[in-house]
Amino acid sequence: MQNKIISKQDLVSFVNNLIKEKAAEEIVGVKASDGKYAFGELANASELCLDYDVTLLPPKKYFLPQKETVLKFKLGAKPSVEPVADAKSIIIIGVHPYDIKAIELCDAVYTSTNPDPNYLLKRNKATIIGVDCLNPNPKAFCPSLGTAIVESGFDLMLTDIGDSYVVAVGTGNGDKLLNKYAKTKAATDSELAQRDNQRRQALGKYKVSLNMPSSEVPGLLEASWDSPVFKEKSETCLSCGSCVMVCPTCVCFDVQDDIALTLDKGERYRQWDACMLVDFAKVATGENFRDDKEKRFRHRMYRKGMYLITRYEKPGCVGCGRCALACLAQIASPAETFNLLKEAS
Ligand code: SF4
Ligand code: SF4
Repeated sequence: MQNKIISKQDLVSFVNNLIKEKAAEEIVGVKASDGKYAFGELANASELCLDYDVTLLPPKKYFLPQKETVLKFKLGAKPSVEPVADAKSIIIIGVHPYDIKAIELCDAVYTSTNPDPNYLLKRNKATIIGVDCLNPNPKAFCPSLGTAIVESGFDLMLTDIGDSYVVAVGTGNGDKLLNKYAKTKAATDSELAQRDNQRRQALGKYKVSLNMPSSEVPGLLEASWDSPVFKEKSETCLSCGSCVMVCPTCVCFDVQDDIALTLDKGERYRQWDACMLVDFAKVATGENFRDDKEKRFRHRMYRKGMYLITRYEKPGCVGCGRCALACLAQIASPAETFNLLKEAS
């Protein structure tokens, strides 16, 4: 992989060039507001914040929007259906490695068995400029899952080494962007050593970890179906769904129809859904096969630690810690539950 150096000042010019020259229809990046961080449209490079800990929502929202129309229909004598799928080209700046891993999982979910045109259209028009996470949030546990550092899944990857960034070039598209809009030079061995040192130091800053290799988690869960840990942990759950709504590897949505008052037309939309909400597993007959919070809590843990891994051979949780930060009851971290199950086993 090619590695280049861009000074901090030249990175500002690079981002401003992308915006000014309209290198994509949308240029988005991480912005700070009241001590929180969120991906949003950039009007100027000065808005970009690259030394953040974690964003409120993951960049998944650009490929799977919270709410999205998927088709329009007409009723009456000549009914018709028109699929709706649109996408703008987008450059997303400042994606952390764990979110890149999460996007890889989403890609696997939305391309296997039944490829999702709405997701793919957006995904294929996206350029990802990553940045190494050097200031992890207090609930993150990425190193335990191998998601703290990535070698692929990005077009460009930045690592802060002081006055400049090392830029790993992941794709031809990334290379073209640099050549056209940025001033860079080749990275020296000493600069690459500085990058490795920065990454090593960051690994030492994580406060949460799994007390077992992550490869043991699926087997641990398989043996823990009847564990009292799920009941104990879920006792204070509010069934609010926040842990799911902020998660970069949660991919479920609900589909509903909106019919016009004239009853002659309407549209079908999908919106994020959450397996921690009471009626997620309610079926047409009125039965609910996860009718209490213990079952829903256990299901989420199995989903994160076993089901997704078994099916897609990728981490179902990337250790970003967003769920734990969002949970008022302070029970949502998969790491804590897996560690308790391990202790009880
Ligand atoms: S389960 Fe929690 S820690 Fe794991 S990826 Fe989802 S939000 Fe992040
Ligand atoms: S685990 Fe926490 S965030 Fe998730 S539904 Fe329960 S209370 Fe809400």
